[in-house]
Order: sequence, then C-alpha cells, then structure tokens
Amino acid sequence: MNILIIAGAVSLIILICFFFLFALYSLLEKEKRAFWRSSIVFLFLIIISIIFFLAEAPLKNWLFGTAFILLILDLVILVLSPLKRKSTEIVGGQNKVDERDVIFARFEYMEGAETYEEYYGRRPEYKKIDDEIRKFPDILSHPHLEKNLLLSALASAEFDFLEHQLTQVSGRESREKSQLPPSENTRIIKKIIKYLGSDHCGICLLNQAYVYSHVGRGPEHYSEEIKLEHKYAIVFALEMDLGIVASAPKEPVIVETGRKYVEAAKISIIVTNFIRRLGYPARAHIAGSNYQAMLPPLAWLAGLGELGRLGILITSKFGPRARLGLITTDLPLVADKSKKLGIQNFCQKCKKCAKNCPAQAIPYEEKVEENGVMRWVINREECYKFWRKAGTDCAVCIYVCPYSKSDNAFHNFIRIMAQNSSAAQSLSVWADDFFYGRIPLRRKSPLR
Ligand code: SF4
Ligand code: SF4
Repeated sequence: MNILIIAGAVSLIILICFFFLFALYSLLEKEKRAFWRSSIVFLFLIIISIIFFLAEAPLKNWLFGTAFILLILDLVILVLSPLKRKSTEIVGGQNKVDERDVIFARFEYMEGAETYEEYYGRRPEYKKIDDEIRKFPDILSHPHLEKNLLLSALASAEFDFLEHQLTQVSGRESREKSQLPPSENTRIIKKIIKYLGSDHCGICLLNQAYVYSHVGRGPEHYSEEIKLEHKYAIVFALEMDLGIVASAPKEPVIVETGRKYVEAAKISIIVTNFIRRLGYPARAHIAGSNYQAMLPPLAWLAGLGELGRLGILITSKFGPRARLGLITTDLPLVADKSKKLGIQNFCQKCKKCAKNCPAQAIPYEEKVEENGVMRWVINREECYKFWRKAGTDCAVCIYVCPYSKSDNAFHNFIRIMAQNSSAAQSLSVWADDFFYGRIPLRRKSPLR
C-alpha cells in the first residue's frame, strides 16, 4: 500500500473516531440534536472511506491524498492561529459597590417602609423602573407558586434554610494559633473543601474594591458601613446539574440554585469554623442576604475563570453553570493568580447568550468601562423583571453558553483547543450552533 493511502486512511480514522466519540458523548448527555448530527457525519465518513477503498488506482491515491492534505491543512490553520488571550482589564480606579444598590437588596425595600423612603430619596433614578418591576409578582410567590407548588415550596425551604444559617457565619477564634506555614494551610484548606464537595477552589488577596461599602439587606443594620478587613478570600465553585439547567427558565432551576447555595453554605460554615479552631478569624459569606463582598471578581482573581458576556463568572471547569461560595480569613495562605483562559476572546465571537436571552438584557456590543473595569454590562433591571415574570431565576443564558457543556474528556479537549487557537474558537462557535442549535432545545427536568 502506498504512503498516500496510509496517510489518508489514518486521517479518516482520526475523524471517524472523533465523530464516534462525539455521538457517544452526546447520547450519554441526552443531547438529541448533537447525537443525530454527529452520527450522520460519522456515517458519512464511514461511507466515503468505503468508497475510497473501493476506488481503483490512481483515483484511490488521489482521494486518500486529498483526505490527508485536508486534515493537515486544518491542523496547520488551527496551530498557526494562536490566540492572543485577552482577559478582564482594570482601566481605572475602582470604588466599592454599595450593597444597597444591588438589585436583590432594592427589592427588599417595601413601599411605605423606612428603607424604601431612605433609599429612593437618595437614589431617585432607580425608583421608576423598580416600581414598575414591583408590579410583577415576586419570585416563588402567588401566582407563580400555583404553577408548581411542590418545587416552589422546595426552593422556598432551601432559601429559608440559608437564612437560618446566618448565626453560624462568624464567631470567635481559639486563643491558640496553629503555626503551620501558608503553603501547608493552603493545601489543607483546598483538600477539605474538595472533601466537602468542591474540587474547584482558588485563593486571592481580599481586594477591598470588591468588599461592599454599606449593608443593603440581611440581619445587619441597613446602611451600616461594612468593615471586612480579612487578608484572604477563599472562593470555590459548585457545579449545577446540566439536566436541570437545561429546563431553563422553569421552576426546577431555582430549586437547583437553592441546592447549590445550601451546599456552598455548608462548606463555608464548616471551613470557617475549622479555621477559627486553628486560631484565626474567618467569616462565611452565604447566599440569601449574607454576602459582604462580590464573589465573581474575587473568583476571577483566585483563578477560577473569567467574567463573560452574560455578566457572571465563566468557570474553567463548568462554565457559568456553577454557583460560588466565599470564605474570608486571616489564616496565612498562598494566593493563586488570575488566569487568561481565552474565554473573553470566545465571548467576543459567540453572543449566543445575548441571542437567547428572553429579556434581551445581554449586550451584543463590545465591553464598556464600569467602575474601572472593562466588562460586558447586562441590563440588570430587564433581567430581574424577567425573573419576576417567569417566577424563577431564569438561567437561559447559563444553559445555552457553550462553556456549560459537561466537564468530561471530550468537551475538555474542545476547551483546550479553544483556549489556544483563534480558528478553533471560530469553529467551536459555528459547531455549537450547528450541532446543539442556535436556540438549544429545552429538556424536561428530572425534577418534574
Ligand atoms: S454564550 Fe457565548 S458569549 Fe455568552 S457568555 Fe457564553 S461564551 Fe460568552
Ligand atoms: S438570566 Fe435570563 S433574563 Fe437574565 S440575562 Fe440570563 S437569559 Fe437574560
């Protein structure tokens, strides 16, 4: 057999194996459209391979030679288009964000209440839009409640549980201090967090720009200045179930959100208690109304991912399909570095979240400067208004994001390619639409 035929046959076998694996993974992931389309490509490759084998020389040589050259050309294009990775740029001074301005805080100020009068007296620019949103029923309340009483009750029970944990988030540290070196403390903390349920954890210095300036909600006094002077932030991510997120924007999503926040609270509370027993101050920041700092920028600094077009963190393992947990402490630790993962380059090409957002709250345009950071700024009011209309926390953008695919060998291979090659990113954006759909099909949640 001549060398061209062997090279061509190997090229075809590589492609056949790739599409076989694609179809197999799609079947396991219950991705019907991707399964059928990858299976068709797989069968097509088998058929043309048979035709090539049956052809007579010199046509046979020519056909296999062409297959080989095409594969080599593709590889050359992928390799010769290295990605100049861009990441979040800090372009100016960053002021602390006031928690009272955070959308979830604003909707705790009831008309007629002192907080309402104080807040909108100071920030009249938000009054009109917020009052308009207040006309829609609150999430997990009547009449949303009636759509799925069981799941709504379950989500409410999860969030009630979180509120009951607020007394556990801080406490006095032991007098005796552990004298382990920072590297050992870091190893132990990451190991414990992994044991408790998160294997995606990072550490950064607690940048004061990401600590809220004033209390906006929760058990502490409204408007009180927040003093959080711990040196380190430990941030971790918990994967949300893809099968449930795939039902977005339906009720199961908020149940899954609540479940992950409960897990994050459990990890944070146990680890902070552990750190205090080692003689160092520590505070758990748990969902509901207990954060004293902003998690996405801290998670970025800690190397967990990058801020995406959809306005939240895209983690390197689970994409945006994750919930974050935070611990702040003075325990001596070794900080990780933020990473350039090429995610923001991908977002520049992709825009799938913007196209699928039912509220059209995600920008199609380039990043803009907000508080000294170049980022995509979503229309938070339009987003939250949709949540109130839907009765859940939506998550359509999280589901459709190509980075939300499962954390497995097949998708990790694609992620590595996209992290290193501009052409691979363009191909992935196109392939995601072709195989999964521009508007990916929603799935029936296993919780229904
Ligand atoms: S869907 Fe695309 S544009 Fe949106 S966050 Fe994900 S990768 Fe970025
Ligand atoms: S959560 Fe829903 S409404 Fe909000 S930005 Fe994402 S897709 Fe749009």
